[in-house]
Amino acid sequence: MRFKDKVVVVTGGSRGIGKSIAESFSDEGATVIVTYKNAIDESYFDSKNIKHYKCDVADAKAVGELVDALVKEFGKIDVLVNNAGITKDGLLMRMSEDDWNAVIDTNLKGVFNFTKAVTRPMMGKKSGKIVNITSISGVIGNAGQANYSASKAGVIGFTKAVAKELASRNINVNAIAPGFIETEMTDKLSEEVKTNYLSNIPLKRFAKADEVAGVVKFLASDDAAYITGQTLCVDGGLVM
Ligand code: NAP
Repeated sequence: MRFKDKVVVVTGGSRGIGKSIAESFSDEGATVIVTYKNAIDESYFDSKNIKHYKCDVADAKAVGELVDALVKEFGKIDVLVNNAGITKDGLLMRMSEDDWNAVIDTNLKGVFNFTKAVTRPMMGKKSGKIVNITSISGVIGNAGQANYSASKAGVIGFTKAVAKELASRNINVNAIAPGFIETEMTDKLSEEVKTNYLSNIPLKRFAKADEVAGVVKFLASDDAAYITGQTLCVDGGLVM
């Protein structure tokens, strides 16, 4: 029960990696709040005692209001996991401005919105852990993902800058760059793309979402108190 008495917010926690992160913190005693944009299986999350709020991470006003309400209700936020993310893949030549904006607004501006909103309450109590879910696409770039790679590289730079700003307040800010994790986001990739990925992964398998969740918990724990501004690749050795 490492996270007993901790309040943890996971953005985009209704499915995939975020859902696994939320359950994993809840299993270790945390009060967990997830956000989502479209829909959530309310009865499932209620049965797990995980609170859920509809809130588009790209909407700064909605994010600010939600964080204020959460601090009022739960007294504090100890851990923020910026996980919400989308892809709208396509070659640059054919990429629409809408697809560029949607990905940057969700994946990068969303991280800015939530991090900015939790900064004041975390600074007030002089402690906090922020874990940003980026991607190896932001580390090495991926053809067909100019928008996504740019957003995720932006998150890595953002993580470093904010880690420096908040270090004196005992707030750790780190990022995790997953490789290929089995979720709805990767289900939609073609067999050809999946086979190509697999052949380049030294561990010769894709990961389950809970293999990311474990690393998030490590970075949010006291075991990682002396780590800040870092990006950990959780990718079976794909990037090294
Ligand atoms: P996923 O299965 O598609 O789930 C995405 C989650 O984000 C959902 O809960 C979704 O909620 C939420 N979301 C999307 N847009 C949002 C918005 N504007 N505001 C609030 N919530 C929003 O994705 P995933 O595979 O679990 O990915 C999670 C994170 O890991 C993303 O940041 C992704 O880029 C990153 N990642 C994934 C992989 C991978 O292999 N799967 C690899 C590297 C990085 P709704 O259902 O309500 O839209």
